[in-house]
Amino acid sequence: MILITGGAGYIGSHTVINFLNAGKDIVIFDNLENGHIETVQTLQKIGSVKFEKGDLRNIEDIEKVFEKYDIDAVIHFAAFALVGESVENPAKYYRNNTFGTLNLLDTMIKHNVKKIVFSSTCATYGEPEYTPIDEKHPQNPINPYGASKLMVERIMEDYDRAYGLKSIKLRYFNVAGCDSKNRVGEWHEPETHLIPNILKSTFTGGQTFKIFGDDYDTPDGTCIRDYVNVEDLAEVHRLALEYLYKENKSDVFNLGTEHGDSVKNIFDVCEQVLDKKIPVEVVNRRAGDPAKLYADSQKAQKILGWKPEKTIQESVQSAYNWEKFMNGVCVK
Ligand code: UDP
Repeated sequence: MILITGGAGYIGSHTVINFLNAGKDIVIFDNLENGHIETVQTLQKIGSVKFEKGDLRNIEDIEKVFEKYDIDAVIHFAAFALVGESVENPAKYYRNNTFGTLNLLDTMIKHNVKKIVFSSTCATYGEPEYTPIDEKHPQNPINPYGASKLMVERIMEDYDRAYGLKSIKLRYFNVAGCDSKNRVGEWHEPETHLIPNILKSTFTGGQTFKIFGDDYDTPDGTCIRDYVNVEDLAEVHRLALEYLYKENKSDVFNLGTEHGDSVKNIFDVCEQVLDKKIPVEVVNRRAGDPAKLYADSQKAQKILGWKPEKTIQESVQSAYNWEKFMNGVCVK
């Protein structure tokens, strides 16, 4: 059985579907602070999914799961992931993302479970010294979110040396899109991300979409990011776990499309896909946004055999289908 922490959340739920398609039995562990019970119920209709509500900050919660199920490996998503919030409330990030993960790792070692795939982030790199960013780029996070994840990466390396824990650290760039069958999707409250925010502004009662700054040092003045499709991203977790079973070796991989899109590009794609005008205004820069982030993900492509396949148009279309469903405009 595979334990997926944070499996009721955005990337976690898509990864659960990917593992179910591969015939795996899953137990989801989630505190439902950002995840949703409706998502769990949907996943339970798709395949063999057990659900345990609990919080990694309480070691007894996770200990109970390892006592109850025969777990071979862990895919670890459960984390808080808002940069701005992490600056205002670093304790929340270090307690949950770092200390919570330590509880998970200690429980794994105790139960002799020694394989983990970990959701890390390009935020561990901080302000880029060069692009595209490869895995050798220096790691100097500029916010507590990135720091909380980098600490976990370091802890995992030490736990490998000391206890033989094998980990694959996946450093995600930006994630976009939803399940192509519209069963699960991006469901954050509040929503802060670019694509859902653009799409939300098209529904009645939606707010005007705001571009955070158009005076960056980029061709059109707006920030450039690398948007990888969530189903492509889900797939790489399965490949990473297969790699762990085969090679039994720790490693780290960047996951992006190697293509940068500016905020204005993404906005244009949304207008094209929706075939309608979207209300927009330019406002001040958002604190802590680097001008340009995109990945060199050759390593994941060569070693794991991963290939990001979906286009940004497909990601926007699936995200829109989900927004329509959430707004009651269409039925699943
Ligand atoms: N962004 C924007 N308006 C929004 C949300 C985001 O202009 O309503 C910009 C943001 O400043 C950044 C990019 O879109 O340059 C991607 O932001 P997002 O929050 O989606 O992801 P992040 O890069 O922060 O992980």
